[in-house]
Amino acid sequence: MALDRPDLRARARAEREARTQLQARRVRRTVLRRDGMRSEVAGSDGSTRWLLNFCGNDYLGLASHFQVSGALQDAAALHGVGSGGSHLVSGHHALHDALEREIADWLQLPAALLFGSGFAANLAVVQGLLGEGDACVQDRLNHASLIDAARLAGCRLRRYPHADAQGALRQLRTLPEGAAMLATDGVFSMDGDIAPLRELAIVARVQQALLYVDDAHGIGVVGPDGRGSVAEARLDVEAVPLRLVTLGKALGGCGAVLAGDVDLIGHLAETARPYVYTTALPPAVAGAALTAVRIARHEHWRRERLTALVQRFRARALRLGLDLMPSETPIQPLRCGDNATALAMSAALDAAGFWVAAIRPPTVPDGQARLRVTLSAAHGDADVDALVDALATARDACADAARRTRP
Ligand SMILES: *Cc1c(COP(=O)(O)O)cnc(C)c1O
Repeated sequence: MALDRPDLRARARAEREARTQLQARRVRRTVLRRDGMRSEVAGSDGSTRWLLNFCGNDYLGLASHFQVSGALQDAAALHGVGSGGSHLVSGHHALHDALEREIADWLQLPAALLFGSGFAANLAVVQGLLGEGDACVQDRLNHASLIDAARLAGCRLRRYPHADAQGALRQLRTLPEGAAMLATDGVFSMDGDIAPLRELAIVARVQQALLYVDDAHGIGVVGPDGRGSVAEARLDVEAVPLRLVTLGKALGGCGAVLAGDVDLIGHLAETARPYVYTTALPPAVAGAALTAVRIARHEHWRRERLTALVQRFRARALRLGLDLMPSETPIQPLRCGDNATALAMSAALDAAGFWVAAIRPPTVPDGQARLRVTLSAAHGDADVDALVDALATARDACADAARRTRP
């Protein structure tokens, strides 16, 4: 029988065409230089321009902090670039160790384990602990890496309505056999709201499920000393045996650290495939993160500054009738609805000198495209005021354009 397989290039072209129709194409913008929150970006015609960045995750302004860069340079001078191996063979360095101990100390937890990325750490947690016959119950809006982790683990995956602890309980009750994990983002990455961790902890306890909190956007930003959403909810390692700290957001670097229970962390360090079969991060990257963590935990003014900017942004935006989502964190999304509106708003802001990317499905649910505005302690009051004014102007221009095109 003759084969008639689909041609993958033809399929890729067809899917790209479909994305074009839906205004769902995604393009990268190239940054040439950065100066604080301003980025010089390349245009498609070879020109370059400076934009004020309001869509990054550098919440505390540590990504270009001189002391953090200095730590990176010093450690690279001493230890070179590559780690030269995986952690279990020959790549584990004293700076990796020091970073793990610093984070465990900061979070008042017994153990910590460094990964190359948060994505890899999430794969490790779910694959390393769950298998066939087990269950992973997750918030519908959890990060893609958690969803993929459950799929790869081969366990049953059930999703509950956003921030609905009763929904989590119902899902767990339908899966009474096998081990269970209840996994949630601490601060939701595209919405900025905080998970109902105290209620989820009760559900997890009643259902004998392990509560895992991915605190990628909470660490450094919320809770006492920036210890994150779990600390903010006053939950201990019994209630939340594992949590994820990423180093690429508020901490301004890259990589991630899993922190919590000694037995669980020890198990993952020896068996989790995304930990075992990958090259350890450059020691200098760990050295930079170590400095960033020390600044994040001790310089409270950065969090105070951020809180003040969030309040300033919200007060001014709500006064101008902007459609903000309910969030107290530096993630302050503005609802747009359809992709075309989100893209038009983003383009109008770009023309005014602001970089706010349009976030569209599948990153967010269908019909919920938005501008995900993010604030940083490195923004100025005047930056925020100018952004809000530009957002209101862009909204009015988009509404006018919509009225004109309507028959
Ligand atoms: C960014 C993010 C990750 C992935 O972390 P990386 O270190 O960027 O791979 C995981 N979970 C959440 C909620 C995130 O926002």
